[in-house]
Amino acid sequence: MKVVKFGGTSLANASQIKKVCDIVTSDSDRRLVVVSAPGKRFKEDIKMTDLLIALGEKYYEEGNAPDELKVVIQRYEEIVRDLGLGEEVLKTVEEDLNFKLSTDRSHREKFMDCIKAAGEDNSAKIVAKYLTTLGVDAIYVNPKDAGLLLSDECGNARILPESYENLKKLSDKKEIMIFPGFFGYSKSGDIVTFPRGGSDITGSILAASVDAQLYENFTDVDSVFAANPNIIDTPKPIPVFTYREMRELAYAGFSVLHEETLEPVFRKGIPVCIKNTNNPSSCGTMITPKRESKNGPVVGIASAEGFCSIYVSKYMMNREIGFGRKILSIIEEEGLSYEHTPSGIDDISIILEHKQLNKEKEERVIKRIKEELQVDHISVQGGLGLVMIVGEGMMHTVGITARATNALAKAGVNIEMINQGSSEVSMMFGVREVDNVKAVKALYNEFF
Ligand code: ASP
Repeated sequence: MKVVKFGGTSLANASQIKKVCDIVTSDSDRRLVVVSAPGKRFKEDIKMTDLLIALGEKYYEEGNAPDELKVVIQRYEEIVRDLGLGEEVLKTVEEDLNFKLSTDRSHREKFMDCIKAAGEDNSAKIVAKYLTTLGVDAIYVNPKDAGLLLSDECGNARILPESYENLKKLSDKKEIMIFPGFFGYSKSGDIVTFPRGGSDITGSILAASVDAQLYENFTDVDSVFAANPNIIDTPKPIPVFTYREMRELAYAGFSVLHEETLEPVFRKGIPVCIKNTNNPSSCGTMITPKRESKNGPVVGIASAEGFCSIYVSKYMMNREIGFGRKILSIIEEEGLSYEHTPSGIDDISIILEHKQLNKEKEERVIKRIKEELQVDHISVQGGLGLVMIVGEGMMHTVGITARATNALAKAGVNIEMINQGSSEVSMMFGVREVDNVKAVKALYNEFF
């Protein structure tokens, strides 16, 4: 069995939904289908989930939001009409929305999750219905009936382990199952959603639960590219890469799959294929546990901005047992998440996302480190960018660092920091944020 997930642009209107149904019915192994809410039909369009958020927020505040509700219903009306489905389908959507709006509003986040879930839920019902009108044996599957249980962290839910056993039973079903992405239920029966973009996670969980032979993730690009197309003109497509490479690239700005997506399939070693709904015959990009290094030691180059470095120095730091623990305890107690800690004999830098620090917090952290650790010098420097080259086997290939640093030097990019070796699959360069684009271009030209 293959699990197939379709993203928002694949559900954006009736003609896209017809493509989805053609893809599903063209391969009899495609039996478990996960759908997103309708996405953007054109660049300036608004995604259904954002329309629902606007609806939920207004309704929560005012107990009424006729204009926002009208916009949501109109989008479904257009889809239902263009698919040639009857009035009763639209009525079911309207009833569902009104029912969800009339639920308990005592807890804002719970209420919002319930409204947000309507996007995926109604997509799934419409696709199942349309397939049946084509004579296909298809059913809508409700995540509650299927046993998709999640933690009650609204908007940021995680799977509860017993869900896998529950969902495994789906493999016994004979019909083509249409499953809404993005949400499940808490143990107390409330709808809870994953973080935004979370339908990918649903697909991955289902693929792991039914031991799928393949998890196909249909989106609107032919493949994953070796660098950000906004920086590099027509970057090379990546035909195959590993879970670990994908994880490193996703961390530093590749936004193809939601970060949490790969975990369930990774644990089971199920391959993932990213494909294009608008060009299904193109081979797409495969993500597998291992790959042959046919396409070179470096598969991709990623970059991210908005980091800062807390630089600390203290004479004889290397002899002071517990210094590292104490400084990281302060970071922990202040609720900060750090990314890297390059260090020297008398110095340590803590690299973190700058947006976590407001002025007050920054001053407090500096004061605490100064006073509690009696350091000689401490400073915070913002505007740091991270650029990564990623590739399995890179560590064992002679000369990769030399080529990378040489390319950066030629482009006039000053390297503020190098982190190489702690990860088997990536090498990270800290540069001034303003040099990020220059650095990516230089590295891309060198390795591709
Ligand atoms: N519809 C949700 C969102 O826009 C989830 C998804 O599409 O994966 O974030």
